[in-house]
Formats: sequence, C-alpha cells, structure tokens
Amino acid sequence: MAGWPDDDHPREECGVVGVHLRPGAEGDVAGLVQVGLFALQHRGQESCGICAASPAELRIEKDMGLVAEVFTEERLDELRFEGARTGIGHTRYSTTGSSLRFNAQPLTVRSNKGLLALAHNGNFTNARAIRDAMLTAGAVFQTTNDSEVMINLVARYAELTLEDATARVMGELEGGFAVVLMDRRRLIGLRDRNGVRPLVIGEFDGGHVIASEPAALAVVGARFLRDVRPGELVVVDDDGLHARQVLEPEPTPCAFEWIYFARGDGVLDGADVHASRVRMGEILATEAPADADLVVGVPESGLAAALGYARASGIPFDLGLHKSPYAGRSFIAPNARLRDQKVRLKLAPTQSVVGRRVVLVDDSIVRGTTSGRIVQLLRDAGATEVHFRVSSPPIRFPCYYGIDTAARQELAAATMTVDEIRERIGADSLSFISEAGLARAIAVGRTCLACFDGNYPAGHPGDDLGKEGLDEQGELFRSVTAPFTGT
Ligand code: SF4
Repeated sequence: MAGWPDDDHPREECGVVGVHLRPGAEGDVAGLVQVGLFALQHRGQESCGICAASPAELRIEKDMGLVAEVFTEERLDELRFEGARTGIGHTRYSTTGSSLRFNAQPLTVRSNKGLLALAHNGNFTNARAIRDAMLTAGAVFQTTNDSEVMINLVARYAELTLEDATARVMGELEGGFAVVLMDRRRLIGLRDRNGVRPLVIGEFDGGHVIASEPAALAVVGARFLRDVRPGELVVVDDDGLHARQVLEPEPTPCAFEWIYFARGDGVLDGADVHASRVRMGEILATEAPADADLVVGVPESGLAAALGYARASGIPFDLGLHKSPYAGRSFIAPNARLRDQKVRLKLAPTQSVVGRRVVLVDDSIVRGTTSGRIVQLLRDAGATEVHFRVSSPPIRFPCYYGIDTAARQELAAATMTVDEIRERIGADSLSFISEAGLARAIAVGRTCLACFDGNYPAGHPGDDLGKEGLDEQGELFRSVTAPFTGT
C-alpha cells in the first residue's frame, strides 16, 4: 500500500468513492462515503472531502488531513440532512495541483446543469492545453487541479444532458483517469479508454457504490458487481444502474496497482492483487535465484512477493524485519542522518537474520536511498550476505497518469546500471523482475508499463507539463475553501 511522504516508494494520487441510495432506502449517505474513504486511505493522505446531496440541496466538507482527522462526528453531521441520497468522496495525495486546501476534492460548481461535484484519480495529460485555450476564451479557474478542466468542459455543452456532455468530454480528455461525478439526483462513474486507473461497482440492499477499489465496497456492505470497463460511462439514478461504452476500449491498466498500490484483499480487472504479488515473487525466484538461508520481505509492501520467492526457491521465509506501526507521518526527517534514524524507528531486524545469508524482497526501488538503509540495518544486525530482489522492473521514466514516481533525474534506474544501484545500496547482489515476468504474474493481458519502458499508452503531455502539472499558479491562491451549500 502507498507509503508515507518520505518513503522511497511511488505514491498513488487519489482514491474516489460514490454512493447512490435507492428511493425509499434508509441510509446515511455521508457516513457510507466516509467509511468507503477509510478503506481507500492508502491511496492518498494529504486531504480528503465528502459531498452529499438531496434533490434540493448539495453540501460539501473538505480539508487537509486524514479521513479520521477531518471527518469528526460534528463535521459529518453537517452532511447528514433530509433527503440526502447521493454522495461522493475523495482522498488525495497531489501530483498535479499543489497540496493546498483549495485543491482538495471533490470540486463543486454551479453550472448550466445545476450543482455538480466531481472527484478524480489520475491525470488528464492534455489538461494544460485545454485550460490555456479556455483561459484565452475567457473562462476562469478557481483551483490548479485538472478536475476543474473536466467540469468546465462538461458545463460547456449547455445543450446536452449531464450524461451526454460527460460522454462527449470523455473523448476530449487524454491520460489515465477514473472519475466520480454527481449532481443532486445521479451518480456517474467513468474510466479512460485505457482503464489506467481502477474503478469498480458494488451493490447493496440500499443502492450502489462506485469506488477505486473493492475494499471500499466491502466496508459499506456492498457486493462486488464488476469493474467499470475502460472507456465506459456508468450512471446510477433512481431508475437503477445503466451504462454505455463511450470509447473503444484499449485496456492497459497500471501495473503498479498490482505491484504495490492496491490493497492486497482486492481483485482488479479480474486479477487477484495478493495472488499476483505472490506470483511476482515466484517468478523472481526463477529469474534471479540466490544462494541464501532466509527470505525476508520489506514490510508491508514486500511481504507477499517474499512469500512467493520463498515458495518457489525452497528457501525458508521469515519475518526478518519488525515494522513499528507508530513511526509514521508525524516524523518528517529533514536531513540524511534523521532519515536514517527514521528507517531505524520504523524497521528493526529480528534475531532470525543473525549469521544468515538473506534474500531481501521489496516491491520497488525509486531513488534507492531507503533500500540502502535497510540493507545496512540487516548487515548491522549480523546478516552475512544481503541479496536484494525487486518485484517490479527498474523504474526509468516518470508517470504521467497520477503516480508520483519522482522526477526522472531522481530515479536511480534512469541514471545508473543495475550494478551501480547494487553498489549504492550495498547489496551483495541485486535483481529486478523482468517486464515479461511481471506481465505473467499479473495476467490481465496488456498493462501500462510506461515507467519501466517509456511507452505511454494513454498519451504523453510533453515537456510543458512535466511533473509540475498546473502548479505554477498555485502559490497565488492561499485562500480557504468555504463549505458550499446551495440548490
Ligand atoms: S507509468 Fe507506471 S505508475 Fe504510471 S500508470 Fe503506467 S505503470 Fe502505472
């Protein structure tokens, strides 16, 4: 699952969830959205928000912080009101748009289609160009995140219904994204034609849920119905669930959902996340065997692959690293010495590694800094050899579809050979799973592998967007977003 801010891991941008209650169903729509967001907290820890609506009214609360910090009972009560049956929620870690309160989602607007709220996961790679053209034509923007570009585009088609306008806009936006959108009567979910970011549908007695991952369905008591298909638009209203295939699907979902981001208890696009991770380890063991006594996974993200490596190699698996659950976000380490201390606060070797030749398995190496510290931890504890195995291929290119993989020049594998990385992290040997091996482990057909091979299946923003997104105006706005209530 996604890590804390100074972990050396790629970071997911966002999680989204939407709920629509059937007419006459008893239910607390804001409470259900909140519970769904709890299950998606690993997809973003910087800000969160919930929007709830009745046919007469729409309200929103959003702020910086974790779901548990922002949504106190008092605050949630503001979103519990007569007739509220539709709601969406968002949890965010930003890569596009600075991490300011006004960029928190959902985004709400009053438009020619009434009050709308939108929350998205991923990036629109042509948002900058569309936004510039709209600014030239006189449009105004309140935020620097690209959700606002989408909602403006939807509003531009005044003659179309919300559903038709949204379908039209799906064809104009490029990139990798999953969106939940609502007005006061309906909930809409959609995925880009490549299905880069996940989105699933669930049903319960009281209505429907649309969310980034199945984890958010289970917690509200919904059963998994199916994934939203790449290029599909799904609408839930008082007539139930209906869907249309707007764009010709070209599925290339993000491989990193299975490597690291998604919760291990889920199934995405038909592929079991945990089982895929175990298979990555098994394949890694055949591609990169090691002469060793013990297989250790870096908790939590490397454990499933380590289990697979142990099974396939016959080398015993053990919990060689204890992870403290209490050393988290509160400890921001400003220099190398403190960052080293932070790794020691979070991870402590167990006695099982003393005098052993250890295979250490992790899901990825981004900059290589944390990996080197963990190798040193094991050596200091008495491991005689450390053989590092990675269940993703080397990350050489940045992601433009909503994942913060760091800028290209910071990526260890973009500037160093595997042996140079091995030397930097101080391991006795270092191997990454191959791209073909990864594809076999995930088994969903084609996936996006752009951060490994540089082939961007859903378009590339060019150098103008880079990793900065729409940030350049972010510093101009330090306003506080007031709660939005209206009809
Ligand atoms: S570039 Fe990498 S992280 Fe980004 S969507 Fe593709 S596989 Fe996922």
